Amino acid sequence: MAEEIITPEGPKRSLNFIEQIVEQDLAEGKNDGRVQTRFPPEPNGYLHIGHAKAICMDFGIAERYGGICNLRFDDTNPTKENVEYVDAIMEDIQWLGFKWANVYYASDYFQQLWDFAVELIKEGKAYIDEQPQEAILAQKGTPTQPGIESPYRNRPIEESLALFNKMNSGELEEGTMVLRAKIDMAHNNMLFRDPIIYRIVKTPHHRTGDKWKAYPMYDFAHGQSDFFEGVTHSLCTLEFVPHRPLYDLFIDWLKKGEDMDDHRPKQREFNKLNLNYTLLSKRNLLALVQNKLVDGWDDPRMPTICGYRRRGYTPEAIRLFVDKIGYTLYDALNDMALMESACREDLNKRATRVSAVINPVKLIITNYPEGVTEQLETVNNPEDENAGTHTITFSRELWIERDDFMEDAPKKYFRLTPGQDVRLKSAYIVTCTGCKKDADGNVQEVYCEYIPQTKTGEPESNRRVKGTIHWVSAQHAVKAEVRLYDRLWNVENPRDELARLREEEGLDAVEAMKRMINPESLEVRSECYVEAFLAQAKPMDHFQFQRIGYFCADKDSTPEHLIFNRTVSLKDSWKPKQ
Ligand code: ATP
Ligand code: MG
Repeated sequence: MAEEIITPEGPKRSLNFIEQIVEQDLAEGKNDGRVQTRFPPEPNGYLHIGHAKAICMDFGIAERYGGICNLRFDDTNPTKENVEYVDAIMEDIQWLGFKWANVYYASDYFQQLWDFAVELIKEGKAYIDEQPQEAILAQKGTPTQPGIESPYRNRPIEESLALFNKMNSGELEEGTMVLRAKIDMAHNNMLFRDPIIYRIVKTPHHRTGDKWKAYPMYDFAHGQSDFFEGVTHSLCTLEFVPHRPLYDLFIDWLKKGEDMDDHRPKQREFNKLNLNYTLLSKRNLLALVQNKLVDGWDDPRMPTICGYRRRGYTPEAIRLFVDKIGYTLYDALNDMALMESACREDLNKRATRVSAVINPVKLIITNYPEGVTEQLETVNNPEDENAGTHTITFSRELWIERDDFMEDAPKKYFRLTPGQDVRLKSAYIVTCTGCKKDADGNVQEVYCEYIPQTKTGEPESNRRVKGTIHWVSAQHAVKAEVRLYDRLWNVENPRDELARLREEEGLDAVEAMKRMINPESLEVRSECYVEAFLAQAKPMDHFQFQRIGYFCADKDSTPEHLIFNRTVSLKDSWKPKQ
């Protein structure tokens, strides 16, 4: 039976299946009781929420079992990788609250991997194939039919050695030849049909410059790097299940049959994070950025870690979400609503309650003296008694939300309508007396009268009213821009739809994305009014705009031009468009 453990977030949960594997290995004394993991991103883009799931696993396992987790950049493809991404990845992992023991790069092992490849050639376990890619692909066979052996498969070892050196010397063009492992062209596992293990890339590498022209393929670099570093548990996602036997084979070859059953890295796989209305994969995200379909990698509509950060998610909210969805052996499509509910749960505990009016109309309290102001105390966070209070200024002219007034209201409308009483939050009960309209019938001002003894804390403050609305003092409020975000995609499963549009309708990726994007994913409200307390808001400060939603100050917000991003609405009221 699975034991219960305490998570950093509090609630008890059962061990996940990877934790069970690790506990069993520890119980059996594998790897001398050591636990070492790694998080191995390719620095070819910014991290997304899927990576957060892998990060929580890799670092979480090491933390829980007193081991270490290293950050290893899987930098074997210089054409797509650069330092900007390396830096961004480090920033995001730290922001999520994790610490690596060491930073390594697959490129640290280029020499060792090269030497190993040379050894394999000498042992007759690898050969240079000069056929074009298409020919190699065409000879692979199918899962039910064996492949065809390359005419170069049995070339002399000396020839392969000489050509391998040429692959790295710069005298050969990309694509002219590759190094292949000689395994079995009839193997059930297609990856064993003489996999390509080295190719020529002439783009300079962001760390090794032009020292190398021959680069190892993923399968030839990953397991060996794990082995060189002493990784015990190499955790990755399910698409690598078919790669596991090859991972093991290369390590066997590397150690030449030495008995290491108890001392070798084990690859174990868990399900990928897929979220509905969300497109992951760095390649797609890069296309969105390059084609300016979004405002950079940290656009708050992006599923990147930096996008969520700018949107106002906290690291705790992301970790809570990852914890809620858990780890399984089956791929699924998770509901974005779950992510948002984790975010609300977290922000509810930490966001300062403030007043902001995002669709303003004037409310004039006709019996309140002109020029008088009152300082009212408001509680910063009813969920946190240590959060304190702040003051908000009350006066005769207020901004209120336009939808909080209706001239001809239905019976169940409990907000302002002529003749009805409503409480102004933290202040007085007022009776609505009417409004002024322009020639087109648009409401320009709303009027009411206040009832002095009903001020919060005064004798008649308990008087019952059915509605409470928020407000800000027109004279004291500060103007702000508010950005309301919605789902970036109009379709529930953008990954499948993208594939369908490309295949069935022949669209290129960008055309297909344009077809699926939600044109209303960003609504900018430039005429909003927020209470003066928000004038000093700093980027990443979290607020609850009462009755509206959770917001944070944008990174571009300044005291002269305040900008707030809606992180998430207060309730889950989202519905697909008809
Ligand atoms: P992408 O296609 O988005 O670039 P990737 O798998 O190529 O993703 P890497 O940088 O190579 O990204 O991956 C680093 C680690 O993150 C790998 O262990 C990978 O399995 C994991 N990972 C990537 N996407 C997800 C996801 N959606 N859910 C969970 N883990 C993921
Ligand atoms: Mg990748």
